[in-house]
Amino acid sequence: MRGAFEMAKVLVLGGGFGGVVAAERLAEQLGDEHQITLVSRSREFVFYPALVRLAFGKCQKEDVSFNLRDTMLSRRVNFVEAEVAHIDPFERKVSIAHGQVEGKLSYDYLIFALGRRLATEQISGFYEHAHHLLNVDKALKFRKAIEQFEEGRVVLGQCSGARLPVPVYESAFALARLCEERGERDRVRITVVSPNTLESEVGGVRGAAALKRALDAKHIELLTNFPIQSVTQNSATTETGDTINFELLMLVPPFRGSSAARYMGVTDSEGYIHVNWTMRVVGHERMYAVGDCVSFTGPKMGHMAVRQAEVAATNLAAEITGREPVSRYVHEMRFVIDEAGRDGLYLQKDIWRDEPATVRAGRFWSWAKRAQQKYWEAAHS
Ligand SMILES: Cc1cc2nc3c(=O)[nH]c(=O)nc-3n(C[C@H](O)[C@H](O)[C@H](O)COP(=O)(O)OP(=O)(O)OC[C@H]3O[C@@H](n4cnc5c(N)ncnc54)[C@H](O)[C@@H]3O)c2cc1C
Repeated sequence: MRGAFEMAKVLVLGGGFGGVVAAERLAEQLGDEHQITLVSRSREFVFYPALVRLAFGKCQKEDVSFNLRDTMLSRRVNFVEAEVAHIDPFERKVSIAHGQVEGKLSYDYLIFALGRRLATEQISGFYEHAHHLLNVDKALKFRKAIEQFEEGRVVLGQCSGARLPVPVYESAFALARLCEERGERDRVRITVVSPNTLESEVGGVRGAAALKRALDAKHIELLTNFPIQSVTQNSATTETGDTINFELLMLVPPFRGSSAARYMGVTDSEGYIHVNWTMRVVGHERMYAVGDCVSFTGPKMGHMAVRQAEVAATNLAAEITGREPVSRYVHEMRFVIDEAGRDGLYLQKDIWRDEPATVRAGRFWSWAKRAQQKYWEAAHS
C-alpha cells in the first residue's frame, strides 16, 4: 500500500446510478484538496425504472429526469458534459469529444461507470420492426404505438444476452390493465417471451411460481426458452426456426459492455469489465468499475450499481488516504415487479450463494417502488 495522496484527481465516467453515487460518496469522504470530476454525455439524470410508467402514460418526461450538473456542482463535484471516446490507462488520460470540452483529461484515479451498450445489430430486423423502452425517446415512441393499438397479439420479451427482465413483466401487467380500462382486454392477446427459464430469470422456483400465478391471473401467456434471433414486420424467429407472430413487438435487445472499455484489455468476451470484490478493475492500477459495465452474472440492476458505487468510493477514498481497501461487494439481486399499481412482487437473492430467494407479494411493494423513486429524487437532485 502506497502512502497518502496529497492532491488526487479523480475522474468518474458516467452519470447514471453508479457514477452519481460514486461521485457523491467520494465527495463526502475526501477533503477539499482532492478534485472530483464527473464526465457524462448528458446533463440529465434519467431514472430508468420509471420508463415503463412513462411508456404507459402514467407520468411525463419531466418526471423521470433531473439536472445532474446542478446536483453535482452543489456537492463539490465538477461536471463535464461530453462523450468519453477513449481511455489510456497507462498514460492515465481520457479522450473526450462532442461536448463543452474536447481533448484529454488526465487522472490519478478513475471510476468507470458508463453502463452497457444495446447490441441491437445482433438481431436482424430489430431496428426496423421492434420497439424497446430503454431510453426516454424509445419509451415515448412505444407509448404512441400502444395508444394507437386496438387489437391483436402483443409480444413483449428479452433477446438472448439481454439482462433486464423487470420492465418486460411490468409492461405486460401495465398493458393488461390498460386494455381492461379501455374495455379491450378480450381483443388483445399478450405474450411474454424469454430466452431463459422463468426460474433463472427470477432467482429460483419460489419466485417463478409467484410470477407465473400473477401472469395467469391476468391471462398473460408466457413462452420461455425462446431466444429470438430475427424479426420481421409481424413475426419473430428463434435460432432453431420457431416463429411467433404479432401485431406489436417490444423487445429488450442484447446487452454488451461499453465500447469505451474495449481497448483496455480488461473485458470478458461480451465486453464487460473484470473487477474483484473491492470493485477494482483486474489488470490496471488506480481504476475501479461499477454498474452495468462490470462482468458479474445475473441481471443488470440499478440497486447493484448503487451498492457497487458505495463500495468502490469507500475503497478508493481509503487508497487515496493511504489505508487498505476493506469494503466488500456482495452480489445480490433485489427487485420489485410492479403489477401496474395494483400489486407487486418483491424478490431478493444472494447470487453468489446457493440459498433460496426471498419472495413477497402484495400492494405494498408496488407502492414501495414508487416511493423509492421519490426518495432517490429527494436525495440526489
Ligand atoms: C426500462 C428500465 C427499467 C428498469 N427497472 C429497474 C428496476 O426496477 N430496478 C433496478 O434495480 N434496475 C432497473 N433497471 C436497471 C437500471 O436502470 C440499470 O441497472 C442502471 O441504470 C445501471 O446504472 P449504471 O450507472 O451502471 O449505468 P447507466 O444508468 O446506463 O449510466 C451510464 C451513464 O453513462 C453515460 N454514458 C455512457 N456512455 C458514455 C460515453 N461514451 N461518454 C459519456 N457518457 C456516457 C450515459 O449517458 C449514462 O448517463 C431498469 C432499466 C431500464 C432501462
